[in-house]
Formats: sequence, C-alpha cells, structure tokens
Amino acid sequence: MKKVVKFGGSSLASAEQFKKVGNIIRADESRKYVVPSAPGKRFSDDTKVTDMLYACYALAEAGKDFSKDLKAIKARYEEIIKGLGLKLSLDEEFKKVEENFKNKAGNNYAASRGEYLNGIIMANYLGYNFIDSAEVIFFDENGNFDAEKTNKVLSERLSKENRAVIPGFYGSNPDGTVRTFSRGGSDVTGSIVAKAAKVDLYENWTDVSGFLVADPRIIKHPKVIKVITYKELRELAYMGASVLHEDAIFPVRQAGIPINIRNTNAPEDAGTMIVKSTCHTPEYVITGMAGTKGFVAVNIEKDMMNSEIGFGRKVLSVFEQNGVSFEHMPSGIDTMTIFVDQKEFEGKEQQILAGIDREVQPDTIELESDLALIAVVGRGMKATRGTAGRIFSALAHAKVNVKMIDQGSSELNIIIGVSNCDFNAAIKAIYDTFVQD
Ligand code: ASP
Repeated sequence: MKKVVKFGGSSLASAEQFKKVGNIIRADESRKYVVPSAPGKRFSDDTKVTDMLYACYALAEAGKDFSKDLKAIKARYEEIIKGLGLKLSLDEEFKKVEENFKNKAGNNYAASRGEYLNGIIMANYLGYNFIDSAEVIFFDENGNFDAEKTNKVLSERLSKENRAVIPGFYGSNPDGTVRTFSRGGSDVTGSIVAKAAKVDLYENWTDVSGFLVADPRIIKHPKVIKVITYKELRELAYMGASVLHEDAIFPVRQAGIPINIRNTNAPEDAGTMIVKSTCHTPEYVITGMAGTKGFVAVNIEKDMMNSEIGFGRKVLSVFEQNGVSFEHMPSGIDTMTIFVDQKEFEGKEQQILAGIDREVQPDTIELESDLALIAVVGRGMKATRGTAGRIFSALAHAKVNVKMIDQGSSELNIIIGVSNCDFNAAIKAIYDTFVQD
C-alpha cells in the first residue's frame, strides 16, 4: 500500500501544526510521498505566506525596498524551524531569493518559494529526500501543464525514491523558469504525484473533516459526505460548492485513484472518500446540495415555435455571438427559457434582446432577474422513487415558489430555480427532508 499525502496551508501554518502533520505521517507506514503547501493562516486575520510573497515581489518589481517584507516572510519559516527544534538554516536560500527578486525573476517564481521553502523544512523534519518540483513537473510553450512529460520524468524519479517531499503549486517552463498553477494548486500537485507514483490513495489533509452535504453558512452543522463519486463532485463544484482545485480531479480520476479528504486537526475522523464508482449505498437519497445566486431567466414565446426548425439554434447563437454562456434551457411547447449569469448578461442585455428579435421574431421576450439555481445531487436518486415529489412538497411547505425544474437524464441531479430571496429557505427545506439524524 502506497499513499500520497498533501497538506494544505493551515495544516502547516506553525510548528504546532507541523507536529500534528509529523504524527499523521509517522502513524502510517504507507504515507510515502508528501506534498506540502506554503504556510497558511495561523489565525483568521493572519496572512498566508503566498500572499506575503506576492506583495513582497510587487515591491521588488516596482524597484522599491522589499527587505522588511522579505524579513517578515523569513520570520514565518524561522518560527517553524525553531518550534520544531531543527538544525536548519534557510539563510543561503533567502539570499538567493533576495537576489532573484532584485533580478525580477517574476511573480510565479516569487509565489512558488512558499512551498519550496516549506518543502525543505518538511524534508528535514521527516528525514525524507526533497525533490524540487521544477525538476519533475512541466508546462509546455503555451503555459499548459504537460501531463505526458511530467508523468514520464516524475514516475521515473519516484521509482528511485522510497519516500520523498515534493512541494506543491509549481513546476517549470520549457526554458527552465518556474511556473505556478492557479491559486490552490498544491491540490493539483498532489494528484499528479499520486498518478506518477501509482499509489493506492491520495490523502488530501485540510482543516475540515470532509465535504459537507450543504453549505454550513446556511445549515448549522451539516452532515459530512462519507463517499462521493467524481461525477457527483463535479456537479456540486460546478454549482459553487468550494471543494478541491478543479484540475486536481483529472490525473487521479484517470488513474482510478480515490481521494480521501481528511482533517489535520481531527485525524480520527474518516473524512470524505472521492471515488470513481462505488456500490456503497449512499446514506441519504441525496449526496449533497449546492447553489448559486444571480441568474436571469430569458423567457421567449412564439406561437408554433416547436415546428420552426433551427429556432433553438438561432436563439443560442445570439448568446454565443455575445460571449454569454447559458446554464440551463428548459422549454415548453411555444416557449423556451434560457438561464444566464446576471453579471455576464447585464452589460450585453440590449444587444442580445435585439439579436433574438432579429433572428427569430418572437411574440414576447420577458426577463426575470435575481434568480438562484440549486443543484440537488445524488447517485441514490436513480434508484429511489418520489425524490422529485419530496423535494417539491418540501419547497411548497416552506412557501418557496419554484421557477424552474431541470432533471438531467442521468438522474444524478435535479436543478431547481428559485428567487434569490428564497435561496436559504429552499436549501433548508430540502436538507431537512432528506437528511435526518
Ligand atoms: N500556496 C498556494 C496558494 O495559496 C497554493 C496552495 O496552497 O495550494 O494558493
């Protein structure tokens, strides 16, 4: 059994947190490859080291004095080294960083030092070898992640290392300069390492005990999702649930490696397992719920619309020409409705309306704004009769007016449109109907 363990910034924000991480790694012999983030926040209004690095480099780039800022960053690492009682000095490393900042090595280089330096500390603390990600993770000429080259070089390298620390968030360009993934990208590194090392499990350690059935800002202490499939996760993430970095899914999903979301501050909790497929019967009919506010419904009516070939295409082409993507498109006999993002739509409203008039000469076009979409997701819905019925009676009881219903043919999700102002009430009503203690 082999595992990759990735630790997020809050798990590595201080020496105390590092010690918890050390205990977790040492508790399981199979935790062989460690992917650290940069030190995150120690308390709620603290600053992440990554943000400190961006700010510090901005001064360097502008030719201003950045020594005080760099000192503050160094102090964050020294606090950790001292707290762990390590005999390690980062003086030489910081000299290099200072010089490279002066030479304007770039924003990406600057940000990547957060995980690079934390990786050095982690390797020293654990007694593992350190692998600089710039040597094993690659981007192509267009700045896209080069999966093939990376997998080849990285798996070869890892086959020689029984245990290693590989810092998250960055790799290198074809010219050897450093490039980072987008923010939160250490999740992606963990996934890439998991695939290359052909591990059995990718553990992603953070500060929550897994994904929650619903947003905790709306539902007090929602249940944790024990098992979720990649498909379900994708639906929830798309609808706004803040989960893993989107790109972290692909490498492991391809390789069929499950991800386990765990809590560094409560390692006894089982967390959430993300799997390709499962025969594990879901605990509740719904696996999870997520939603987003701020949509507009564009209702188009025209007599005999249905017999007019190409009607839908012509309407959608107007949105396409204006660079507005549509979210959902429920239709009736002589009506069709297009749900679009309100912010995206607002600036182009009149062009789009005029375009639709020109293309299909509808009888009426009505706009309804300030709508929210809620996705109720669950692989269990397929096998259960009456799910939609239960959702709608719950909403009726809560006096929520349903503006739209859209069930995907996979029966994995039901999307419900309600007014923004009914958003919280709708989520509460559905949660209470399906999730009981
Ligand atoms: N340190 C980086 C960030 O703050 C990457 C990560 O933590 O995943 O975005």
